[in-house]
This record gives sequence, C-alpha cells and structure tokens, in this order.
Amino acid sequence: MNLVLMGLPGAGKGTQAEKIVAQYGVPHISTGDMFRAAMKDGTELGLKAKSFMDKGELVPDEVTIGIVGERLSKEDCEKGFLLDGFPRTVPQAEALEKILADLNKNIDYVINIDVKIDVLMERLTGRRICKDCGATYHLVFNPPSKEGICDRCGGELYQRADDNAETVQNRLDVNVKQAQPLLDFYQSKGYLRTINGLQEINKVFGEVEQLLGDLI
Ligand SMILES: [Zn+2]
Repeated sequence: MNLVLMGLPGAGKGTQAEKIVAQYGVPHISTGDMFRAAMKDGTELGLKAKSFMDKGELVPDEVTIGIVGERLSKEDCEKGFLLDGFPRTVPQAEALEKILADLNKNIDYVINIDVKIDVLMERLTGRRICKDCGATYHLVFNPPSKEGICDRCGGELYQRADDNAETVQNRLDVNVKQAQPLLDFYQSKGYLRTINGLQEINKVFGEVEQLLGDLI
C-alpha cells in the first residue's frame, strides 16, 4: 500500500501514522527523518541538503525530490510506504508521480485527516504548561483540577507564545493555503480519501482500516 498522509496541525496525523505503521508494517517516511538519514549516510544529496540547512536556507525542491526518490527505491518500500510531510506543493506532487512511475509504482490513497479549523484552534490553543515542573495540561482534554495551578507541584500554569490564538490562527492559515491546491490535485487524480478526524482516535483509525482493507 502506497500512501500519502495529510492533515493540518492538530488533526491527529501523527497518531494515525503510528497506528498505520504498527498495523501494516509499512515504513513511515517523514521529510525530517529522510533528510536526517540521507545526511547521516553522507549521500551526495544528503550532503547537498545539509549545506543548505547549515546556512539556514530552505532545501531546494530538486534536492528534496532526489532524496525522496532515493528513499522510495529502498527495499523496505517494496510492499508500500506512508509518506508524511511530502509532498507539500503541487510541483512536488507532480515530481512524486514521476518518481513512482519510474519505480513502477503508484499512489493508492492520499488520506486526509479532516478537522474543522475552529476545532483545531481549540485543540492547539488549549495547552498549558507548569512554570515549575514542566507538566503539560490541556484546558479541554486534560484540565488541571484547579484552574491555572499544577496538580503535581502547585506551580503556576502558562501558555507558550507559540500556542496563543493569533500565532495558531496564522499557522493554520498558512497550512490551509498550502494544502488546498494539493488536495485539489489529488482529488482530480482520484486518490483523495477524506476521513473525519473529529471522532475518537480509534474510530478515526477504524475508518482508515476500512479504507485500507481492500489494499491487502
Ligand atoms: Zn508543576
């Protein structure tokens, strides 16, 4: 099964990725891991990527795409893979089509874990952290018994700057803007399957399993 996993921050993509890998034994290929492995192996492309990252620059598409191609030709991808974090743009998606065609493969499904923006806002802005011991809470999912106070040590809880509403809203806006053309592209190719990520984690995975059932 050759899969691409998509979902906005907070949609639960990481959790579903873990479950898919555990259940079906396909390698989880995230961009970060791929870069790290290529750099560690010292491949030509890995070193190229490193030279850009060391300068704090974005790795150009041709390098990223080359690294993806190398990774997908490895033996452990023979029975399938789960791509996560790549592609991010339509040109990258088109490049991926070429890579896969050269390898005589194709994408089976692009799974989009869909959660409405206002729910993501609630999920992503609800985190609170203890100033003293670092324990984390969530106003909705894991609230402290006393508002603003750490259960463990009595310390004061605070919200990280990254978690404030404006920052989160901006991050989501950027992601939506980036994801939409990609979703449209995969819709037009017939790969896209949207799964309601608003349900309980195991129910979401149940739908994933149902979908993947016909690939085994
Ligand atoms: Zn504490």
